[in-house]
Amino acid sequence: MKFETKLIHAGQEADRQTGSVNVPVYQTSTYKQDAIGKDRGWEYSRSGNPTRKALEDCIAALEGAKHGLAFASGLAAETAVIGGLLKKGDHVVAGDDLYGGTYRLFEKVFKQWGLEITYADSGNPASFKKAMRRNTRLVWAETPTNPLLNITDIAAVAEIAHKGKALLAVDNTFATPYFQRPIELGADIVVHSSTKYLGGHSDVIGGLLAIKNKDVFEAVKFYQNAAGGVPGPWDAWLTLRGIKTLSVRMKAHEANAFEIAALLARQPAVSKVFYPGLENHPGHALAAEQMDGFGGMVSFELKGGRAAADRFFRKLKVITLAESLGGVESLACYPVAMTHAAIPEKDRLKRGITAGLVRLSAGIESGEDLLAELERALK
Ligand SMILES: *Cc1c(COP(=O)(O)O)cnc(C)c1O
Repeated sequence: MKFETKLIHAGQEADRQTGSVNVPVYQTSTYKQDAIGKDRGWEYSRSGNPTRKALEDCIAALEGAKHGLAFASGLAAETAVIGGLLKKGDHVVAGDDLYGGTYRLFEKVFKQWGLEITYADSGNPASFKKAMRRNTRLVWAETPTNPLLNITDIAAVAEIAHKGKALLAVDNTFATPYFQRPIELGADIVVHSSTKYLGGHSDVIGGLLAIKNKDVFEAVKFYQNAAGGVPGPWDAWLTLRGIKTLSVRMKAHEANAFEIAALLARQPAVSKVFYPGLENHPGHALAAEQMDGFGGMVSFELKGGRAAADRFFRKLKVITLAESLGGVESLACYPVAMTHAAIPEKDRLKRGITAGLVRLSAGIESGEDLLAELERALK
């Protein structure tokens, strides 16, 4: 089955009983058992729910994995990876340009539980190699990164992880499986905030995992059932509904992002543009190799720091100042005070997250409207 067909059909056969073309919303917490020890495959909706299972099978198919798991949020999915696979004293090597919430989870929760974490330069595999220790059990990479769109060489980092007997987890939220399939490049686990492009309409919070091996899957699935953190059937259904149009949406997001990046690069008010599709982006060649496209996220730095950012955001009409990304509507955010506020200032600056930085999620509105708006707001 080709990717576009999987989006619409994987895990989503017509309902056997009624023929319903869409997977029904199984709004139930529990299931009738025919006798003691004789259930019909479903017991309790924390352990499993048919609507959720359809979504879990769908993400597995899209990522080319054997197994899928769905969670109430991207961070709940990340928690299950750590909780299911690691124990006190284990070591994680993570890329240093990370979603702020992932960083907060590592630093403020799992470090207290005795996990050791070293950050490596996201754009440099040698830095991952140098950070590996005897007790490294997991390597964590986000690519392209949030918010600076750095590119991590997935195949190279997979080899480093596996040499050290560690697993590689890749946060594929920005690229989605439409543009990048990390398991094909050697990753063991793919992580998604399905709140973003997979859901695609800014109307549901969710997280997904695609997992290559059965034993890894079993351990994370055990944690999912033991700790909870599962999505309800409506949220699973909304996410499935969003996924159906992923290919048409991603093409449109990318087309707008390309034009926006080109426009921003010509603006005197803009000092830097971060978009992997631009030839002067440091990860451009690698992105062209390991991805099927460059995605819909563009970050840029305004000359004049916070004051310039305040002026810019006040002039926006079509583009909305908001957290999150990946919805059909264009959203712009100010990482320093929003998505990346959890990172201490000196660490933020070290990573290049400056007071003039704006992160833009190009929506699928008319590109002409978006370009006109940006040109006006940057005057
Ligand atoms: C939003 C996001 C997350 C967290 O997901 P939630 O659904 O908000 O819990 C993780 N990684 C990336 C790259 C994100 O953008």
